[in-house]
This record gives sequence, structure tokens and C-alpha cells, in this order.
Amino acid sequence: MFKIAKSFRFDAAHRLPLHKGKCKALHGHTYEVVLEFAAEDVDQKMAPTCGMVLDYGDIKTGPIAMIMKYMDHATILQESDPLTEVLLGPRPRAGHCGPNEYPLREEHGVAPALVGLPVKVYVLMDPPTAENLAKEIHGLVRAWLRDDNSPRGGYVHLAKVKVKETADTHAEYAG
Ligand SMILES: [Zn+2]
Repeated sequence: MFKIAKSFRFDAAHRLPLHKGKCKALHGHTYEVVLEFAAEDVDQKMAPTCGMVLDYGDIKTGPIAMIMKYMDHATILQESDPLTEVLLGPRPRAGHCGPNEYPLREEHGVAPALVGLPVKVYVLMDPPTAENLAKEIHGLVRAWLRDDNSPRGGYVHLAKVKVKETADTHAEYAG
């Protein structure tokens, strides 16, 4: 078994409305994310990625670029958080509130009072803890791996995603 990992950072705001302490207030972090990939074997002769689990450059231009587009300098909120409606405005939410539904203001609009302001919101079903962010990012990266255009998609799996919220804490998700 081969394993590789690539890390990156992004800045975002979040809050946990049900938290008993200060995390219920809107605040920000520089998140550090580690993506760990594994493969039983590597192609040693033919592929452009010969000798590699994945090309680090492909990870950067693929899933990392996608996550940066959605989450960097975003406000990450739970769908049921009243602040979500304050920022995005009222909308039907029946059965859909995933990240691909309205991650960016350009695609989905904002509350009338905020039109023209650089509002960028990423909405999760669940509270935006480091645990749930790791799970969300895991889903995004797995979707990239499963895409037909993904290099070595059939041979590589995402071993785990680690999300570091502060210098001395981190959460992991392995699906
Ligand atoms: Zn926090």
C-alpha cells in the first residue's frame, strides 16, 4: 500500500449556534487541510503519473482548487442557522441544501440588503465543526476521484481528510 498526502490552507468564518460557549458567535479560522490518498500499487512504466499515487499538481488544480473556490473566505453555516437566511435571503429549501445547491453568491443570489456586497456562503446540512468540514471535503474529493477525467481515479482512494482548526486541535474523516 502506498500513501501520499497534500496539505493546504484556507480562511473562513463559521459559527456553532448550539455550542455552549464562545463558538456560537461568528468567528474565523485559518483551516489547514490534509488530503491523504492511498493506492495498492503504482504504474511504474507507462502513465504520466508513473511511480506516483497521484501527481501533486493534479491534486492542486483539481480538488484543492474546487475547495478553495467554494470555501476560501466564505462564511460556512448550517442550513438551519437563522444567519443563513439573513445572508442568502428566504428561499425554498425543500430537500436540498447541499453545497452544490448554493455555494456562491454569483450563482444563487443574496438577501436584498446585501446585493453588491462580496458575500460568499457555503452551507452544510450539519453544524460546521471541523469534523463535519472534514466529511464535507471528503465527499468533494471523492467526487473528483470518481470523475472520468480524474487521473488514476480507479486506482486511488481517499484514505482520509484531516482538518486542523487551531494549532493544537484537528479532526479526521475516513469514509
Ligand atoms: Zn471555530
